[in-house]
Amino acid sequence: MHLYLLGYPLGHSLSPAIHTAALRAAGLPDWRYDLLPVPPHDLPAAVARLRAAACAGGNVTIPHKQAVLPLLDALTPAARAIGAVNAVYRQGAHLLGDNTDAPGFWADVQRAFGPLAPGEALVLGAGGAARAVVYALTRRGWQVTVAARRPEQARGLCESLEAPGGALRPAALTRPALEGLRPRLIVNATPAGMSPQRAGTPWPPGTPFPAGARLYDLVYNPPETRLMRQARAAGLPAVNGLGMLVEQAALAFTRWTGLAAPRAVMRAAAAAASDTAHARRQPAP
Ligand code: NAP
Repeated sequence: MHLYLLGYPLGHSLSPAIHTAALRAAGLPDWRYDLLPVPPHDLPAAVARLRAAACAGGNVTIPHKQAVLPLLDALTPAARAIGAVNAVYRQGAHLLGDNTDAPGFWADVQRAFGPLAPGEALVLGAGGAARAVVYALTRRGWQVTVAARRPEQARGLCESLEAPGGALRPAALTRPALEGLRPRLIVNATPAGMSPQRAGTPWPPGTPFPAGARLYDLVYNPPETRLMRQARAAGLPAVNGLGMLVEQAALAFTRWTGLAAPRAVMRAAAAAASDTAHARRQPAP
Protein backbone atom coordinates (compact mmCIF):
# COMPACT_ATOMS: atom_id res chain seq x y z
CA MET A 1 0.00 0.00 0.00
CA HIS A 2 1.15 3.51 -0.78
CA LEU A 3 0.81 6.75 1.17
CA TYR A 4 1.98 10.08 -0.21
CA LEU A 5 2.79 13.57 1.01
CA LEU A 6 1.53 16.06 -1.61
CA GLY A 7 3.20 19.48 -1.50
CA TYR A 8 5.44 21.83 -3.47
CA PRO A 9 8.27 22.33 -3.08
CA LEU A 10 8.96 19.51 -0.65
CA GLY A 11 12.17 20.23 1.21
CA HIS A 12 13.40 18.25 4.16
CA SER A 13 10.13 16.87 5.58
CA LEU A 14 10.08 14.85 8.82
CA SER A 15 6.88 13.00 7.82
CA PRO A 16 8.51 10.13 5.86
CA ALA A 17 10.76 9.30 8.84
CA ILE A 18 7.81 9.40 11.28
CA HIS A 19 5.49 7.26 9.14
CA THR A 20 8.12 4.80 7.94
CA ALA A 21 9.02 4.09 11.57
CA ALA A 22 5.33 3.74 12.47
CA LEU A 23 4.56 1.37 9.57
CA ARG A 24 7.49 -0.86 10.50
CA ALA A 25 6.56 -0.88 14.19
CA ALA A 26 2.95 -1.75 13.33
CA GLY A 27 4.07 -4.75 11.24
CA LEU A 28 3.16 -3.30 7.84
CA PRO A 29 6.37 -3.88 5.85
CA ASP A 30 4.56 -3.65 2.48
CA TRP A 31 3.36 -0.11 3.15
CA ARG A 32 5.36 2.91 1.95
CA TYR A 33 5.12 6.64 2.69
CA ASP A 34 6.72 8.76 -0.03
CA LEU A 35 7.12 12.41 -0.92
CA LEU A 36 5.15 13.45 -4.01
CA PRO A 37 6.21 16.94 -5.16
CA VAL A 38 3.14 18.31 -6.97
CA PRO A 39 3.24 21.68 -8.78
CA PRO A 40 -0.15 23.42 -8.46
CA HIS A 41 -1.35 22.57 -12.00
CA ASP A 42 -0.74 18.84 -11.34
CA LEU A 43 -2.88 18.63 -8.19
CA PRO A 44 -5.95 16.99 -9.87
CA ALA A 45 -3.75 14.23 -11.32
CA ALA A 46 -2.05 13.70 -7.96
CA VAL A 47 -5.40 13.40 -6.18
CA ALA A 48 -6.50 10.88 -8.83
CA ARG A 49 -3.43 8.85 -7.82
CA LEU A 50 -4.73 8.73 -4.24
CA ARG A 51 -7.83 6.94 -5.58
CA ALA A 52 -5.82 3.94 -6.81
CA ALA A 53 -6.60 0.61 -5.15
CA ALA A 54 -3.03 0.33 -3.89
CA CYS A 55 -3.17 3.71 -2.14
CA ALA A 56 -4.62 4.27 1.35
CA GLY A 57 -4.41 8.09 1.22
CA GLY A 58 -1.85 10.63 2.26
CA ASN A 59 -0.99 14.03 3.65
CA VAL A 60 -1.38 17.41 1.99
CA THR A 61 0.84 20.37 2.75
CA ILE A 62 1.66 23.86 1.44
CA PRO A 63 0.48 25.07 -1.08
CA HIS A 64 -2.35 22.54 -1.56
CA LYS A 65 -4.15 22.48 1.82
CA GLN A 66 -7.00 24.67 0.56
CA ALA A 67 -6.86 23.88 -3.17
CA VAL A 68 -7.45 20.17 -2.54
CA LEU A 69 -10.92 20.69 -0.99
CA PRO A 70 -13.02 20.67 -4.21
CA LEU A 71 -11.13 17.64 -5.52
CA LEU A 72 -12.30 15.38 -2.67
CA ASP A 73 -15.64 13.54 -2.28
CA ALA A 74 -16.34 14.59 1.31
CA LEU A 75 -14.86 16.57 4.20
CA THR A 76 -14.93 16.02 7.94
CA PRO A 77 -16.66 18.80 9.92
CA ALA A 78 -13.24 20.03 11.12
CA ALA A 79 -11.79 20.25 7.59
CA ARG A 80 -14.92 22.04 6.35
CA ALA A 81 -14.93 24.59 9.20
CA ILE A 82 -11.16 25.24 9.05
CA GLY A 83 -11.18 25.30 5.25
CA ALA A 84 -8.00 23.24 5.02
CA VAL A 85 -7.15 19.53 4.63
CA ASN A 86 -3.90 17.96 5.80
CA ALA A 87 -4.90 14.29 5.69
CA VAL A 88 -6.77 12.33 3.02
CA TYR A 89 -8.04 8.79 3.42
CA ARG A 90 -10.27 6.32 1.62
CA GLN A 91 -13.70 5.31 2.85
CA GLY A 92 -15.05 2.72 0.43
CA ALA A 93 -14.97 4.37 -2.99
CA HIS A 94 -14.81 7.84 -1.47
CA LEU A 95 -11.84 10.09 -0.77
CA LEU A 96 -12.28 11.99 2.49
CA GLY A 97 -10.44 15.13 3.57
CA ASP A 98 -9.68 15.68 7.24
CA ASN A 99 -7.79 18.20 9.36
CA THR A 100 -5.72 16.44 12.01
CA ASP A 101 -3.71 19.60 12.83
CA ALA A 102 -6.50 20.84 15.12
CA PRO A 103 -6.85 17.73 17.33
CA GLY A 104 -3.08 17.16 17.07
CA PHE A 105 -2.43 20.62 18.46
CA TRP A 106 -4.85 20.16 21.35
CA ALA A 107 -3.55 16.68 22.22
CA ASP A 108 0.02 17.99 22.44
CA VAL A 109 -0.92 21.07 24.46
CA GLN A 110 -2.42 18.75 27.07
CA ARG A 111 0.57 16.40 26.93
CA ALA A 112 2.91 19.36 27.46
CA PHE A 113 1.00 21.41 30.05
CA GLY A 114 -1.50 18.95 31.56
CA PRO A 115 -5.27 19.37 31.41
CA LEU A 116 -6.15 23.06 30.95
CA ALA A 117 -9.56 24.49 31.79
CA PRO A 118 -10.79 26.96 29.16
CA GLY A 119 -9.71 30.57 29.61
CA GLU A 120 -8.15 33.34 27.56
CA ALA A 121 -5.74 32.45 24.75
CA LEU A 122 -3.64 34.58 22.41
CA VAL A 123 -2.86 33.22 18.94
CA LEU A 124 -0.09 34.95 16.94
CA GLY A 125 -0.66 34.78 13.18
CA ALA A 126 -3.83 34.32 11.13
CA GLY A 127 -2.82 31.84 8.39
CA GLY A 128 -3.79 28.20 7.87
CA ALA A 129 -2.24 26.80 11.06
CA ALA A 130 -3.81 29.60 13.12
CA ARG A 131 -7.22 28.59 11.77
CA ALA A 132 -6.71 25.00 13.00
CA VAL A 133 -5.50 26.22 16.42
CA VAL A 134 -8.39 28.67 16.82
CA TYR A 135 -10.88 25.98 15.80
CA ALA A 136 -9.44 23.61 18.42
CA LEU A 137 -9.53 26.24 21.18
CA THR A 138 -12.92 27.85 20.57
CA ARG A 139 -14.66 24.48 20.36
CA ARG A 140 -13.36 23.82 23.87
CA GLY A 141 -14.74 27.08 25.24
CA TRP A 142 -11.61 29.27 25.04
CA GLN A 143 -11.83 33.02 24.47
CA VAL A 144 -9.27 33.66 21.75
CA THR A 145 -7.56 36.86 20.62
CA VAL A 146 -6.01 36.47 17.16
CA ALA A 147 -3.14 38.94 16.63
CA ALA A 148 -1.69 39.40 13.15
CA ARG A 149 0.74 41.87 11.61
CA ARG A 150 -1.99 42.52 9.03
CA PRO A 151 -4.99 43.13 11.30
CA GLU A 152 -7.38 42.66 8.36
CA GLN A 153 -6.17 39.06 8.11
CA ALA A 154 -7.00 38.54 11.81
CA ARG A 155 -10.43 40.11 11.24
CA GLY A 156 -11.04 37.82 8.25
CA LEU A 157 -10.18 34.74 10.33
CA CYS A 158 -12.49 35.81 13.18
CA GLU A 159 -15.37 36.55 10.80
CA SER A 160 -15.08 33.27 8.91
CA LEU A 161 -14.70 30.86 11.85
CA GLU A 162 -17.57 30.14 14.21
CA ALA A 163 -16.76 30.01 17.91
CA PRO A 164 -19.29 27.62 19.47
CA GLY A 165 -18.95 27.94 23.25
CA GLY A 166 -15.98 30.32 22.98
CA ALA A 167 -15.33 33.82 21.69
CA LEU A 168 -13.05 35.33 19.06
CA ARG A 169 -11.48 38.77 18.80
CA PRO A 170 -9.00 40.16 16.23
CA ALA A 171 -6.04 42.35 17.23
CA ALA A 172 -2.93 43.94 15.78
CA LEU A 173 0.39 42.25 16.53
CA THR A 174 1.71 45.30 18.39
CA ARG A 175 2.75 46.14 21.93
CA PRO A 176 -0.26 48.39 22.67
CA ALA A 177 -2.67 45.69 21.49
CA LEU A 178 -1.02 42.89 23.48
CA GLU A 179 0.05 44.44 26.77
CA GLY A 180 -3.46 44.69 28.22
CA LEU A 181 -4.19 41.00 27.60
CA ARG A 182 -3.94 38.30 30.30
CA PRO A 183 -3.90 35.04 28.31
CA ARG A 184 -3.19 31.71 30.03
CA LEU A 185 -2.03 30.23 26.73
CA ILE A 186 0.00 31.92 23.97
CA VAL A 187 0.33 30.08 20.64
CA ASN A 188 2.77 31.07 17.92
CA ALA A 189 1.20 30.16 14.56
CA THR A 190 3.62 32.27 12.48
CA PRO A 191 6.85 30.97 10.92
CA ALA A 192 8.85 33.74 12.65
CA GLY A 193 12.00 32.22 14.16
CA MET A 194 11.93 29.14 11.93
CA SER A 195 15.24 28.00 10.47
CA PRO A 196 17.09 29.54 8.64
CA GLN A 197 15.64 32.86 9.97
CA ARG A 198 16.37 31.91 13.57
CA ALA A 199 16.77 35.47 14.81
CA GLY A 200 13.09 36.16 14.10
CA THR A 201 10.36 36.44 16.72
CA PRO A 202 6.74 37.51 16.33
CA TRP A 203 6.69 39.03 19.85
CA PRO A 204 6.58 42.86 19.59
CA PRO A 205 9.73 44.44 21.09
CA GLY A 206 9.41 45.55 24.71
CA THR A 207 6.07 43.80 25.31
CA PRO A 208 6.00 42.13 28.76
CA PHE A 209 4.96 38.47 28.83
CA PRO A 210 1.78 37.93 30.87
CA ALA A 211 2.47 36.23 34.23
CA GLY A 212 1.10 32.71 34.53
CA ALA A 213 0.87 32.12 30.77
CA ARG A 214 2.29 29.16 28.84
CA LEU A 215 3.79 29.36 25.36
CA TYR A 216 3.17 26.80 22.60
CA ASP A 217 5.31 27.49 19.51
CA LEU A 218 4.20 25.61 16.39
CA VAL A 219 7.74 26.01 15.02
CA TYR A 220 10.02 23.05 15.86
CA ASN A 221 13.19 23.80 13.90
CA PRO A 222 15.21 25.03 15.75
CA PRO A 223 14.03 23.03 18.80
CA GLU A 224 14.27 26.17 20.95
CA THR A 225 13.11 29.24 19.03
CA ARG A 226 14.01 32.79 19.95
CA LEU A 227 10.39 33.28 21.09
CA MET A 228 10.70 30.27 23.42
CA ARG A 229 13.91 31.74 24.87
CA GLN A 230 12.19 35.11 25.39
CA ALA A 231 9.23 33.45 27.12
CA ARG A 232 11.42 31.20 29.31
CA ALA A 233 13.51 34.21 30.35
CA ALA A 234 10.25 35.78 31.57
CA GLY A 235 9.46 32.62 33.59
CA LEU A 236 6.92 31.03 31.23
CA PRO A 237 6.90 27.30 30.41
CA ALA A 238 7.43 26.95 26.66
CA VAL A 239 7.36 24.03 24.21
CA ASN A 240 7.88 23.66 20.47
CA GLY A 241 5.51 22.13 17.90
CA LEU A 242 7.26 18.80 17.33
CA GLY A 243 4.68 17.01 19.48
CA MET A 244 1.86 18.48 17.38
CA LEU A 245 3.55 17.15 14.25
CA VAL A 246 3.67 13.69 15.84
CA GLU A 247 0.05 13.85 17.04
CA GLN A 248 -1.38 14.92 13.67
CA ALA A 249 0.65 12.11 12.09
CA ALA A 250 -0.61 9.58 14.65
CA LEU A 251 -4.25 10.50 13.98
CA ALA A 252 -3.73 10.19 10.21
CA PHE A 253 -1.93 6.85 10.66
CA THR A 254 -4.97 5.41 12.44
CA ARG A 255 -7.33 6.69 9.71
CA TRP A 256 -5.22 5.01 7.00
CA THR A 257 -4.44 1.70 8.69
CA GLY A 258 -7.24 1.20 11.23
CA LEU A 259 -4.50 0.48 13.80
CA ALA A 260 -3.48 2.28 17.00
CA ALA A 261 -0.56 4.56 16.23
CA PRO A 262 2.79 3.59 17.84
CA ARG A 263 3.24 7.09 19.28
CA ALA A 264 6.44 6.42 21.22
CA VAL A 265 8.13 5.10 18.05
CA MET A 266 6.82 8.07 16.04
CA ARG A 267 8.01 10.53 18.67
CA ALA A 268 11.50 9.00 18.71
CA ALA A 269 11.69 9.04 14.89
CA ALA A 270 10.55 12.69 14.81
CA ALA A 271 13.15 13.68 17.40
CA ALA A 272 15.95 11.87 15.55
CA ALA A 273 14.97 13.35 12.16
CA SER A 274 14.58 16.78 13.73
CA ASP A 275 18.08 16.56 15.28
CA THR A 276 19.47 15.70 11.85
CA ALA A 277 17.64 18.61 10.20
CA HIS A 278 18.78 20.92 13.00
CA ALA A 279 22.39 19.82 12.58
CA ARG A 280 22.14 20.52 8.84
CA ARG A 281 20.58 23.94 9.64
CA GLN A 282 17.82 23.29 7.12
CA PRO A 283 14.13 24.17 7.40
CA ALA A 284 11.99 21.13 8.21
CA PRO A 285 8.44 21.68 6.93
P1 NAP B 1 0.70 30.67 6.63
O1 NAP B 1 -0.65 30.18 6.20
O2 NAP B 1 1.63 31.24 5.63
O3 NAP B 1 0.43 31.78 7.78
C1 NAP B 1 1.50 32.41 8.46
C2 NAP B 1 0.98 33.54 9.33
O4 NAP B 1 2.10 34.11 10.02
C3 NAP B 1 0.36 34.70 8.54
O5 NAP B 1 -0.58 35.35 9.38
C4 NAP B 1 1.58 35.59 8.31
O6 NAP B 1 1.27 36.93 8.04
C5 NAP B 1 2.25 35.48 9.64
N1 NAP B 1 3.67 35.81 9.61
C6 NAP B 1 4.61 35.34 8.75
N2 NAP B 1 5.83 35.81 9.09
C7 NAP B 1 5.65 36.62 10.17
C8 NAP B 1 6.53 37.40 10.96
N3 NAP B 1 7.85 37.43 10.71
N4 NAP B 1 6.01 38.10 12.00
C9 NAP B 1 4.69 38.06 12.26
N5 NAP B 1 3.79 37.34 11.54
C10 NAP B 1 4.28 36.62 10.51
O7 NAP B 1 1.51 29.51 7.37
P2 NAP B 1 0.90 28.31 8.23
O8 NAP B 1 0.63 27.14 7.34
O9 NAP B 1 -0.22 28.87 9.04
O10 NAP B 1 2.14 27.89 9.16
C11 NAP B 1 2.60 28.76 10.19
C12 NAP B 1 3.73 28.06 10.94
O11 NAP B 1 3.21 26.93 11.65
C13 NAP B 1 4.85 27.53 10.04
O12 NAP B 1 6.10 27.75 10.66
C14 NAP B 1 4.56 26.04 9.97
O13 NAP B 1 5.73 25.28 9.74
C15 NAP B 1 4.02 25.81 11.38
N6 NAP B 1 3.16 24.61 11.46
C16 NAP B 1 3.53 23.65 12.35
C17 NAP B 1 2.74 22.53 12.49
C18 NAP B 1 3.13 21.48 13.48
O14 NAP B 1 2.64 20.35 13.38
N7 NAP B 1 3.97 21.80 14.46
C19 NAP B 1 1.57 22.37 11.72
C20 NAP B 1 1.23 23.39 10.82
C21 NAP B 1 2.04 24.52 10.69
P3 NAP B 1 1.42 37.47 6.53
O15 NAP B 1 0.30 36.84 5.75
O16 NAP B 1 1.29 38.94 6.70
O17 NAP B 1 2.79 37.04 6.04
